[in-house]
This record gives sequence, structure tokens and C-alpha cells, in this order.
Amino acid sequence: TAIAFANGRWQVTCGTDTYSAKSLINSAGAWADEIATLAGVTTVGLTACRRSMARVPAPDGLDVSNWPLILGAGETWYAKPDAGCLLISPADEEPVPPQDAWAEDLTLAEGIARYEAVAREPVKRMLSNWAGLRTFAPDRALVIGEAPGTPGFFWMAGQGGYGFQTAPAAARLLAAHVLGQPSELDKATVAALSPARFNDQTNSGR
Ligand SMILES: Cc1cc2nc3c(=O)[nH]c(=O)nc-3n(C[C@H](O)[C@H](O)[C@H](O)COP(=O)(O)OP(=O)(O)OC[C@H]3O[C@@H](n4cnc5c(N)ncnc54)[C@H](O)[C@@H]3O)c2cc1C
Repeated sequence: TAIAFANGRWQVTCGTDTYSAKSLINSAGAWADEIATLAGVTTVGLTACRRSMARVPAPDGLDVSNWPLILGAGETWYAKPDAGCLLISPADEEPVPPQDAWAEDLTLAEGIARYEAVAREPVKRMLSNWAGLRTFAPDRALVIGEAPGTPGFFWMAGQGGYGFQTAPAAARLLAAHVLGQPSELDKATVAALSPARFNDQTNSGR
């Protein structure tokens, strides 16, 4: 992939195809800093953190469908119902390079042990497991807006563990930025989410 800015337009080359547009939205998740670097835009200093999940049968064969999200004290694990089964997460937050993440056996075992310390029935078997990346900006707030000094390059990154919940409001803010319209949010909130807040703290990708 190559990204260039020419004649007032962004050009993204993928293999033999080139796409051209006035605006480029960087929503590459854990790879968003790498995309910025490709485009010659200052990075914001994102950190991708792995979070793992184990899917186990419902304890005691109970109907868990109406169970709430259950958090261990200090959020050292959590569990929630998932299609008749239980998802247990060690609530891990291990910094890793951007990657197709997978769950480590030891991390899962430690998290399940923390769950078992308060559960009536131990986990007898695991049905499946997986991990994904939660990507944080240095201040752990979302990064939404136009890159300072780089017209047409917009950030939509750093959602951490809340990218689903924040998506409706975040998308509206991004749309306002791209369309050059005022946001419904107050100025302080817009500024707190802007990539400009990292201006003095990050390395240039140029
Ligand atoms: C275990 C776990 C549980 C979570 N639970 C919740 C929850 O309960 N509620 C909640 O709100 N959030 C939750 N999250 C967080 C949520 O998943 C993220 O905030 C959200 O997925 C971020 O969305 P995104 O589109 O910015 O990034 P991503 O979902 O990471 O998508 C970015 C995409 O860009 C692609 N990409 C990168 N580079 C390139 C390239 N060069 N070319 C083409 N494609 C590229 C990647 O392959 C990827 O598919 C959880 C995350 C994990 C890991």
C-alpha cells in the first residue's frame, strides 16, 4: 500500500489499483499510526493492547441468558452470557505490535482461575477462545478529526475497549469534521478528541 497527496487529492495505491479522493479517513484500528506514517502524517502514539476471551459452557447447566455482565473486583476478570454459554475474559491489556491477535493459554488460565476463585462451579472445559486488539491513544480518549496541517486527512482511531458503544456519536462527529459542519458536541469535547492535542507530544511520521 502507498499513500500520496497530489493535486489536492489523496491517492491510495493497493497492488495495481489506485483510489483517489479529496478526503482520507484513517480508521485502521491498531494500524492507524502505520497508515499515518505511510501518508507522511504525524502519528498520535497509539498502543495496541491484546484482550482475550474464553467461551465456556454455562455453569451448572443454568440458563444464563439474562445474566448481567459480571466484573471481578478491580476488573481483574469479567464474564457475560453469550448465546447460552458464558464468555470469561482475563481483562488482559498486554501491549503488542499491531497483529492478527490470538489468546495465550497462560493468560486464559490465569483469568479463569480469578473467575473460579468466586464461582460456585469450576470451569471444566473451554469451547473456544480468541483475542483481539484494543487500541489506545496516550490519554486513552478517542482520536477524531483532521490531522493538524494536513487538510483532508481525518483520524478515527483510539477507541480502546469502547469502539462499538461510541460508534454512533463518534461517526456523527467525524461526519461533521469531514463535511466542514459544526458538531453537536461542545467545543471542549471536540478539542479533547482532536488529534491536535498530541501536537507537542508525538514524533513526526514524515
Ligand atoms: C476482546 C474484545 C472485547 C471488546 N469488547 C467491546 C465491547 O464490549 N464494547 C465496545 O464498545 N468495544 C469493545 N471492544 C473494542 C472494539 O472492538 C474496538 O474499539 C473496535 O473494534 C475498533 O474499531 P475500528 O474499526 O476502529 O478498528 P478495528 O475493528 O481494529 O478495524 C480496523 C480494520 O482496519 C483494517 N486495516 C488495517 N490496516 C489496513 C490496510 N493497510 N488495508 C486494509 N485494511 C486495513 C484491519 O484489518 C481491521 O479490520 C472490544 C475489543 C476486544 C479485543
